Amino acid sequence: MTLPRHVGEPPAAKRVLIIGAHPDDPEFFCAGTVARWVAAGTTVHYVLVTSGDKGMPEDQETHQSLAHIREIEQLAAARELGVQGVTFLRLPDGEVFDSLALRAQLTAEIRRFRPDIVVTHDPLTRLYRQHPDHRAVGAAALAAAFPASRLATFFPEQYAAGLQPHVVPIALLFGSDRPDTFVDIAPVFERKLAALRCHTSQLGAFPGGMETRVRRRARDAAAPVGLELAEAFLWVDLE
Ligand SMILES: [Zn+2]
Repeated sequence: MTLPRHVGEPPAAKRVLIIGAHPDDPEFFCAGTVARWVAAGTTVHYVLVTSGDKGMPEDQETHQSLAHIREIEQLAAARELGVQGVTFLRLPDGEVFDSLALRAQLTAEIRRFRPDIVVTHDPLTRLYRQHPDHRAVGAAALAAAFPASRLATFFPEQYAAGLQPHVVPIALLFGSDRPDTFVDIAPVFERKLAALRCHTSQLGAFPGGMETRVRRRARDAAAPVGLELAEAFLWVDLE
């Protein structure tokens, strides 16, 4: 294992931007950390690249109405955690690429919100069974955080429209196969479950129950550093 770099409380930040591929990704990967950030006075905002319109085993709904349902669920989960706001980019689920257009959109979001920490998917995690949208969103978000958002020469039309360049000091990557940052979520684990339960349309997708799976995942993440329940990240210095 990579040597732990940070264990315990979430890394200190005034403003955190979480960029996820689908509604419920922020809750699965980092709801406990979000709850702890909000409790510490950190302002947290979400950007969701898709609205998860393919995220249902049986096609009971049209894609558009499922997207609508999932946005409402995501807003409820964010409210449960005290997240300040949620932005939906509404790209089609399952069809996301690390494109220049997506980098531009995410750069604008970073320049607008001006976070100390960007949290997103690890695009380089070596898992064959990984959702391709996760890889694409992580890659585009990192490209936006470094170097695009800090240099006015990237997407100069944004500068002309009044968005100033912004330096993001740190990225935290979730879904990583080599985490080095472990946030203790034992004190807020029930809050994580409550936020996940807001994603009602997705709860059927977990044979054996959502809670069992989420608890096992948090235990596995915590074990290498001797915690009970944790969320794990890879810390990337961007400054
Ligand atoms: Zn996802």
